[in-house]
Amino acid sequence: MNDVIVVGGGVVGCWTALHLAQAGCKVTLLERDSIGRGASYGNCGYVSPSHVHPLSGPGAIKHALEMMVRSGGALSVPPRWDPSLWRWLMRFRKHCSGKAFEQGSRARHALLRSARALYTDFAEQHADSLQWRTAGLMMVYRSPDRFEAYASAAEQLQRDFGLQINRYDGDNVSEVEPALQSGLAGGWHFPDDAHLHPGQLMQQLRKQLDACGVEVRESCGVDRFVMGAGGLSQIHSDSGESFSADGFVIAAGAETSRFAKSLGCKIPVVPGKGFSVTIHGAASRPTIPMIFEDDHVAVTPLDGALRIGSTMQFVGYDRSVPEHRIELLKRSAKLHLRDPIHAAGEAGQEQEERWSGWRPMSPDGIPIISRLPKARNVCLATGNGMIGIACGPATAKLAAELMLDQTPHVDPEPYRVARFN
Ligand SMILES: Cc1cc2nc3c(=O)[nH]c(=O)nc-3n(C[C@H](O)[C@H](O)[C@H](O)COP(=O)(O)OP(=O)(O)OC[C@H]3O[C@@H](n4cnc5c(N)ncnc54)[C@H](O)[C@@H]3O)c2cc1C
Repeated sequence: MNDVIVVGGGVVGCWTALHLAQAGCKVTLLERDSIGRGASYGNCGYVSPSHVHPLSGPGAIKHALEMMVRSGGALSVPPRWDPSLWRWLMRFRKHCSGKAFEQGSRARHALLRSARALYTDFAEQHADSLQWRTAGLMMVYRSPDRFEAYASAAEQLQRDFGLQINRYDGDNVSEVEPALQSGLAGGWHFPDDAHLHPGQLMQQLRKQLDACGVEVRESCGVDRFVMGAGGLSQIHSDSGESFSADGFVIAAGAETSRFAKSLGCKIPVVPGKGFSVTIHGAASRPTIPMIFEDDHVAVTPLDGALRIGSTMQFVGYDRSVPEHRIELLKRSAKLHLRDPIHAAGEAGQEQEERWSGWRPMSPDGIPIISRLPKARNVCLATGNGMIGIACGPATAKLAAELMLDQTPHVDPEPYRVARFN
């Protein structure tokens, strides 16, 4: 396959285009808006091999219901008429068995581990321009019961996946991260996790695409596919342009499912909406990224700024950023951090960047990286959910390998789209 079109300029599409170009393909990348302005922009930037467990698993429904009522509704599924969401929820429920949880964990681990190594290589050349940091990730608890309850999951992650995990009881956690208040129940630290500035990662990827000769077409939304005898033959843009190639990779994030009908397969990916607020010049300066587990709120230290992110809303393709959601994020940060989040004397608002994004959620928590049974020249690369930054380069590498009929570097079986058909 010499000539490939990639649809979608998020972390997955950009890495895929890069892998393909480095393998000698002529690549065109079509992006409806601007490169890296979808979910890959304002997220928390965790490169977290620790995120092995999918959301679906034994007890997930009970946990989800608890999340919907507590933590200010960190998870919400407003009742509304959306058949694709209800079908997705039924599939999610089906994957809440112990066996599915184990399979999902193994599939995620393979990609997370591969991507962590790919980031190490990439950061060797570009560490400063990515704000690449290897301070690990701390899961912080106020509730002693929940802190203790995590011990069995930690033990399982160490035993089955060889993860290194350090336990810090009580005020030991605020000794390790002095930006934390005292009086917390404790924290679990994953020293092999890392983080970066996702917006800067996307800028760096853009530069690499240019350097490798990828033709990047922004403001070019794909709206129609033309199927031929040999598979997909042509793509039409919303401005009436048509594009042909030997192969196509569809990496349109949460919107990939919009193409399911025309591609003749089920793509059960829905948008899991999340929010972040980035406070420039924040007074509080942690060094370790942290998840405040009682509220499901994540904080990421960036150069000169603090990003706070969270929430999983199944509200369709909605981009609004309600004030009260941002206030909930800030409230959680204030409950855990010693210093105020705004610097003294700042008005606050103008220092803040508020954002929402759509995680591409698959019902079993496993990405979809798969050539299509009915159109072998098309590969899907989506469904990375909450770990798209962490998995991005590996998801993309596998997609490129499948397109090029190369030996895949991870077993492709768990990521096949046919599991839903
Ligand atoms: C609040 C929040 C925090 C998060 N934190 C983390 C984290 O710390 N670590 C982590 O690993 N993940 C995190 N995630 C998840 C991560 O952001 C996503 O998994 C990842 O960005 C998905 O990348 P993508 O390339 O699949 O999708 P996107 O980045 O959304 O890219 C898809 C692109 O396709 C384009 N597109 C769509 N339709 C068309 C079309 N018809 N034609 C042309 N182009 C089209 C879109 O414009 C978009 O640019 C977080 C997400 C949120 C919301």
